Amino acid sequence: DAKEQGVDIRRYVPFIQMKAKERLKLENDLRRALEREEFFLLYQPQVQLATKELVGMEALLRWQHPKRGLVSPAEFIPIAEECGLIVPIGDWVLRTACRQNKEWQLAGYRPICVSVNLSMRQFLQPNLAGKIGGFLKRIGLDPRYVDLEITESMTMDKEKAFEQLTRLKELGVYISIDDFGTGYSSLHYLKNMPIDRLKIDRSFVAEVMEDSNNAAIVSTITSMAHHLKLKVTAEGVENEEQLQFLRQQRCHEAQGYFFSKPIRAQEFERLFLKPTIF
Ligand code: C2E
Ligand code: CA
Ligand code: CA
Ligand code: CA
Repeated sequence: DAKEQGVDIRRYVPFIQMKAKERLKLENDLRRALEREEFFLLYQPQVQLATKELVGMEALLRWQHPKRGLVSPAEFIPIAEECGLIVPIGDWVLRTACRQNKEWQLAGYRPICVSVNLSMRQFLQPNLAGKIGGFLKRIGLDPRYVDLEITESMTMDKEKAFEQLTRLKELGVYISIDDFGTGYSSLHYLKNMPIDRLKIDRSFVAEVMEDSNNAAIVSTITSMAHHLKLKVTAEGVENEEQLQFLRQQRCHEAQGYFFSKPIRAQEFERLFLKPTIF
């Protein structure tokens, strides 16, 4: 046991306390980050494989902390989710991404869809569809250019999820299941939920050429998506070989460092919104 191994638990108490304190500090900083305009969005292109055309972009949140520098969403989203701040932050993400998309349409670029990640708490808001509908109306963006990414775990409460998704579909936005294959889901659920697209998790795509199990999973998800008349997008595509494999599987779209890392709006406009680049 701990004592036998010479471990004294008391040595760890200040460390544990510091962790809690630091977390609280981060939470307080997060509380002010919106008004201090410390958030910004990066965009990553989504490419249609058959035509090599840009069809969409995923908005990815970044927090420029005055002292810590860039904080990863993997670090602060769970905190924001826990303390409820994810709702106002998520609203900001939605409005900012949709405004950007509208701005580019007004500038005369060919319209593309903007994908926005929703967290559990956001997804469970009672009047989510009404709120998003309000945003879109004010911004003047057609809902068909908005894609909401949710994860499988958000649909654990089947009835509630079905109701939310139905209202969102009535609004006219697109719905994607993010990180598909990593969470809970059943074929029954896929058949019955009003969704449009599966995004194959990047962990399967990453080793698709080396690991035959991953190849089988990607191939199965893609084929199933075809049969269920769902769109399918591969995440985390980093090289030509993976792309070739995905093309063979007739995967519809791909996203990943092979095309571009997530980048600032200005750079995205310069690199991707000008006449055909691929
Ligand atoms: P995600 O939604 O699965 O986003 C994809 C993540 O994979 C992004 O990390 C992206 O930068 C990274 N990625 C894209 N292509 C590649 C690739 O080819 N190779 C590798 N290794 N990575 C790639 P990021 O931006 O750090 O975001 C992490 C997660 O944070 C996201 O995972 C999402 O769950 C969450 N997140 C980001 N922005 C938001 C947001 O606005 N709201 C919410 N609720 N969650 C967000
Ligand atoms: Ca996502
Ligand atoms: Ca994902
Ligand atoms: Ca992910």
